[in-house]
Amino acid sequence: MAHDRFQGHDYYQVDELLTEEHLLIRNSVREWVKKEVSPIIEDYAQRAEFPKQILKGLADIGAFGPYIPTEYGGGGLDQISYGLIMQEVERGDSGIRSTASVQSSLVMYPIFTYGSEEQRKKYLPSLAKGEMIGCFGLTEPDHGSNPSGMITNFKDAGDHVILNGAKMWISNAPFAHLAVVWAKDENGDIRGLIVERGMEGFTTPETHGKWSLRASATGELVFDNVKVPKSNIFPEVKGLKGPLGCLNSARYGIAWGAIGAAMDCYDTALRYSQERIQFGRPIGGFQLQQKKLAEMITEITKAQLLTWRLGVLKNENRATPAQISMAKRNNVNMAITIAREARQMLGGMGITGEYPIMRHMMNLESVITYEGTHDIHLLITGMDVTGLNAFT
Ligand SMILES: Cc1cc2nc3c(=O)[nH]c(=O)nc-3n(C[C@H](O)[C@H](O)[C@H](O)COP(=O)(O)OP(=O)(O)OC[C@H]3O[C@@H](n4cnc5c(N)ncnc54)[C@H](O)[C@@H]3O)c2cc1C
Repeated sequence: MAHDRFQGHDYYQVDELLTEEHLLIRNSVREWVKKEVSPIIEDYAQRAEFPKQILKGLADIGAFGPYIPTEYGGGGLDQISYGLIMQEVERGDSGIRSTASVQSSLVMYPIFTYGSEEQRKKYLPSLAKGEMIGCFGLTEPDHGSNPSGMITNFKDAGDHVILNGAKMWISNAPFAHLAVVWAKDENGDIRGLIVERGMEGFTTPETHGKWSLRASATGELVFDNVKVPKSNIFPEVKGLKGPLGCLNSARYGIAWGAIGAAMDCYDTALRYSQERIQFGRPIGGFQLQQKKLAEMITEITKAQLLTWRLGVLKNENRATPAQISMAKRNNVNMAITIAREARQMLGGMGITGEYPIMRHMMNLESVITYEGTHDIHLLITGMDVTGLNAFT
């Protein structure tokens, strides 16, 4: 990718709603992304490889467990700080943000919220430092949008349980040290377990051939009579509310992250429109190109305000799952629409790795699908406003 000339965009002075600490965190992550992610990400995406060497840097900037209390190694930060970190990391690449989201919200969050004190002490500090990387297994080959139908299950066998089944589309799976796995017990209740690499019968084959999130490693989790100690089961949660609580936290981060990807596309297209000359003048002078840019910054600004307000509600523990669904759905759709328009503005150059837009556009095809699809989030809003369930 060409030299990263990104500048943030703040059309409505939303920065004035942020604290000094928020701005400091945002700016330092932005600098880190420019230095450590932008110069390498295109190559890794082209090769479909996750750049493992940045894991330590992600830990150092506080991207692993920013809102987990400091006594467990987390950052002890508020939800807006978490959102800003996700925004900046996704400005670099959605795949890298996925790794940070999974580690923070789908692995550290459940261990902190549903885990025993022993589990918290054992895993959280190493996860925060990036010495251990986790993944989250909910989706199965035959159960995606409907996880309650999952067939992965475990049976009691004394001081341990025997786990069988398979998970699919699991981010970080090929290299994760541990997996937070959701499976049914003998009563059919969904429980969370920590499964460690090295347990006999546990394998994580990599998924190849993705055109999206190419710089993120995705794989399966296969459990063939895996012996998991009972002490690895989360004691504090039963039922679908366990995984849904994690997804709430991750979806909130994605709502912020999508703004980062959108800003990068807008920023690239704006600069290109000022520099690219056709018919003797910059293409930014043509009304059709201005329409695209004007609509992009309008949508980015609306998303920034929506997300900032959601962050305030989340800090006060008042953000509802349906509000988070609305922001995830709106912002990812906003970002993918901007990516598609921005790509056109760059003409042929838009399809190359010289610019980040095509990579963002392809990445966002996964982001609009995972953590609840675009349509599923619409159904959540529909159910919330009508009180009627249109899912089944
Ligand atoms: C790159 C990538 C990484 C991922 N990482 C993880 C991970 O780390 N951990 C994890 O557990 N999962 C992960 N996922 C899985 C992801 O969450 C699922 O793909 C997603 O939930 C959708 O499930 P599905 O693919 O089975 O689609 P399906 O559920 O089969 O849906 C197919 C289509 O049907 C629609 N649909 C389904 N039900 C309804 C309904 N009731 N009404 C109307 N339309 C409906 C959906 O909106 C969708 O358009 C990842 C996916 C991808 C692509």
